[in-house]
Amino acid sequence: MTISLFEPEDLESRLRRLGLTEVDAVRTHANRTVMLSLRRRVLRIHRGYAHAPDRVLGAIVRFLSRSARREARRAAEREFLAFPVHHHVPPAPHRAAAERPRPGDAAVIERLRASHAALNAVHFAGTLADIPIRLSGRMRRRLGELVAGLDDGRPVAIILSRRHLRRDPWPEVEHTLLHEMVHQWQAEEGLPLDHGRAFRRKAREVGIVPRAVRRVD
Ligand SMILES: [Zn+2]
Repeated sequence: MTISLFEPEDLESRLRRLGLTEVDAVRTHANRTVMLSLRRRVLRIHRGYAHAPDRVLGAIVRFLSRSARREARRAAEREFLAFPVHHHVPPAPHRAAAERPRPGDAAVIERLRASHAALNAVHFAGTLADIPIRLSGRMRRRLGELVAGLDDGRPVAIILSRRHLRRDPWPEVEHTLLHEMVHQWQAEEGLPLDHGRAFRRKAREVGIVPRAVRRVD
């Protein structure tokens, strides 16, 4: 077992030196499967890459570059995925246990799916794709989240906070679901996932608070 002696700042400054832009923050992790993800200008990257040569980090920068062509991105992806991060930083203990389905989950998810279908019909003319809805006990401040694929930007799942579901009345939960559905719409339209002008316009259109953060009383 190798213990990483690198600090996250080292990896971040190396990536920036190699041309990383369009990212506000770099966080490291030791997940088993996801090597890197970029969401809302935060890059999460496996800390094993701190041990990688510049050639591999350069591939990551090319992969993340918006101007890169599809073929160049694929080649860059193959290059950084070939680097054996787990040789340098062993995987963290599996955290899936914390997210194991709990009694009552199926009924809640069924209700959320029904809401998704109804809101989709009313506000999006039924155009949004069917999407998995999951619950998370790890969200402390956030109410919900849309997960999109890093490579193609396609929506993967909507995640709602268990804490939100436990504490707040159903209309507030539906409000959050609709907020995440506006992000789903952005992802499906190929728009950036943010709270910019397109988000605000659509949010007003569907009748939700056109902001990233809202107060739930
Ligand atoms: Zn949002």
